[in-house]
Amino acid sequence: MQKVILKKGKEKSVMHRHPWIFSGAIAFVEASDGQLVAVCAHDGTVLAWGYYNSRTDIAVRLLSFGDHKPDADLFADRIRASYALREVTGITQCTNAYRLIHSEGDMLPGLIVDWYNGHCVMQSLTSGMDTLKVTIATIINDILKPKSIYERSDHEGRKTEGLQAHSAQVYGHTPEIIEINENGMLFLVDVRQGQKTGFFCDQRDNRNKVKGIAKGRDVLNLFSYTGGFTIAALLGGAKSAVSVDGSGTALELAHRNCELNTVRQTHEIVKADVFDYINNSDITQNLIICDPPALAKNKASVKNAARGYKKLNLKIIAKCPSDSFLLTCSCSRFIDHKLFQQIVFAACNDAGRDACIAGRYSQPADHPVNIYCPETEYLKALLLYIY
Ligand code: SAH
Repeated sequence: MQKVILKKGKEKSVMHRHPWIFSGAIAFVEASDGQLVAVCAHDGTVLAWGYYNSRTDIAVRLLSFGDHKPDADLFADRIRASYALREVTGITQCTNAYRLIHSEGDMLPGLIVDWYNGHCVMQSLTSGMDTLKVTIATIINDILKPKSIYERSDHEGRKTEGLQAHSAQVYGHTPEIIEINENGMLFLVDVRQGQKTGFFCDQRDNRNKVKGIAKGRDVLNLFSYTGGFTIAALLGGAKSAVSVDGSGTALELAHRNCELNTVRQTHEIVKADVFDYINNSDITQNLIICDPPALAKNKASVKNAARGYKKLNLKIIAKCPSDSFLLTCSCSRFIDHKLFQQIVFAACNDAGRDACIAGRYSQPADHPVNIYCPETEYLKALLLYIY
């Protein structure tokens, strides 16, 4: 039996069902990278099961607690439970694009599976998940019968796991572009070339909030990607929209998404670096969305990232007209809600503007937060009203 034995006194996090074992907690290893291991207390009692990697700080990611070795039945149970959660919470009724498996949030660490109108896109983030992914894809096929499964394992984090990028058709045929319907809005998703697995399902609820307040407003969508917030605002009755992003291919899809939803208002697309754009342009719009990529990629970069978020928000808040809404977001898990609010507070204060928080949002139920692993909560959004 492959196993790791914990140092005396290091059982606490496992007893608290935290799914990560750091290398410093381990006294003895008899395991190879990517393989299933039993995690044992100092006296040899099996506490949990997970997979091991000697290359990473998180040496074991746990799949189950107690002495039940994970097998195909356990994975099938997890996948059924994940689907049931999306169904019971109403997500499958309002959209045909959602996250089916959210890694630790669904107790399948290292695995992301997004569902796009019947097509699955899976992403393996770790060497342990790489050894399990064929089994899991087969189970997804059996239980959910998707039209196709495409693997999009090109996340940067794979390098530290000792893995190369790998993208391939796993099952069936995945079209170049998939059309999805989210709350009545149509979007084109490019699962091969798009960012992450092609679409940001995690902003679904926030897009709806924007739709609800957009009527009669002019919209500036910063870091627009394929225009998710833009379409929501325009369908919600906004007068006009400007979408700004650095990616030409994303903006091309934003344009096509506007056509697909037959929006009639003026929609301007600007390919630019957002930081340059907000330095050099006036902001005349009174509904602004700011949804940058994660500026803090690790703990060490939190300070710099906090400066980046503040600069960005300060520029917007200082320049926007009175009676503006700003939906400002951070998807960096190393910056928590409290710190993000402090950053935005400092930006308002430096801008000398009166402002209040009209809404405080996070990620939807298809991106569940593992209660034992607060690190799985990553999305923060504040809806500010600026007087
Ligand atoms: N709000 C979008 C998702 C944004 S993802 C949605 O709901 O779908 C972040 C986007 O920021 C990506 O499209 C990426 O191309 C863009 N981006 C990253 N850095 C940028 C920069 N410095 N300037 C402009 N765009 C940038």
